[in-house]
Amino acid sequence: MEIANSLKILKEAAKQAINDAVLLGDLETLRVRYLGKKGEVTAQLKQIGSLSHEERRSFGQQVNTVKVEIQQLLDSRHNVLEAVAVQAQLENERIDITQPGRQRSSGALHPVSRTLERMQTIFDQIGFDVATGPEIEDDYHNFEALNIPADHPARAMHDTFYVDDHTVLRTHTSPVQIRYMHNNEPPIRVIAPGRVYRCDSDVTHTPMFHQLEGLAIDTNVTFADLKGVLIYFLREFFEKDLGVRFRPSYFPFTEPSAEVDIACVFCEGNGCRICKQTGWLEVLGCGMVHPEVFRHGGIDERKFTGYAFGLGVERLTMLRYGVNDLRLFFENDLAFLRQF
Ligand SMILES: [Zn+2]
Repeated sequence: MEIANSLKILKEAAKQAINDAVLLGDLETLRVRYLGKKGEVTAQLKQIGSLSHEERRSFGQQVNTVKVEIQQLLDSRHNVLEAVAVQAQLENERIDITQPGRQRSSGALHPVSRTLERMQTIFDQIGFDVATGPEIEDDYHNFEALNIPADHPARAMHDTFYVDDHTVLRTHTSPVQIRYMHNNEPPIRVIAPGRVYRCDSDVTHTPMFHQLEGLAIDTNVTFADLKGVLIYFLREFFEKDLGVRFRPSYFPFTEPSAEVDIACVFCEGNGCRICKQTGWLEVLGCGMVHPEVFRHGGIDERKFTGYAFGLGVERLTMLRYGVNDLRLFFENDLAFLRQF
């Protein structure tokens, strides 16, 4: 009787422990503890020696029954805990499809690149091809062939970065004219956009900036053609019928030469701080190709005439977008760049 009672107590304890288990691993520990070869239920059988023959048989059955019951308790608790675990996993891995997506910021073209593309598109529409040349240039192409010999005062106007005595970082895109003339026969109608370098840095100068060179050579090309192309370009670029004027000027590689002004885009020509009350803004230099440049380019200056022009890309970008400090373009400030 006492033995049967201890078996009952053992069963109750096991039941309690199984119900209290919260992890699947705990159930395995309990199974070993109660039903294992050295488990507590099995240990009960050791008491069998103190029992009578009849009692032994009945006790054996009771132990087996308890074993089965405990196993059932373990199984049912196992099912409960497994369901809880699956539910928890579902909760954890749930995807809230109503949540707004993460904004991915996409890059955009730099304002200077946008301006260059715009300029190229306009010139492409009136039949200009694109040519390029090296940024590390020799003295001959950068100066000599453009009618700027070593003792020429115009060299002082270019604050040149010298790589060595005969090599420079090109100070303008004009050397591409010479290279193009060497490799192509007229008629020539080409633009050369690219980076140029000068040893200068302030509100309106950066050591590296962009130019767009233009060159047209054919029989009977006149200054009127040059005027027509540039006025067309400027009005297309600024998308308005703005005033344009040509002022006589001097460049070693063109003769005659002119600087070109547009009516101030900020005050419509009435005079403001940006145009220094003149109503005009200087935007480019141009002229008819100098015979000396033709000779260096290997083109017969008695048969052909041509014009050339050079535009400052940053200058036009500043005017188009109303930016007043050139250096902003090169500081990589995202807040500034995202405005475009
Ligand atoms: Zn103005």
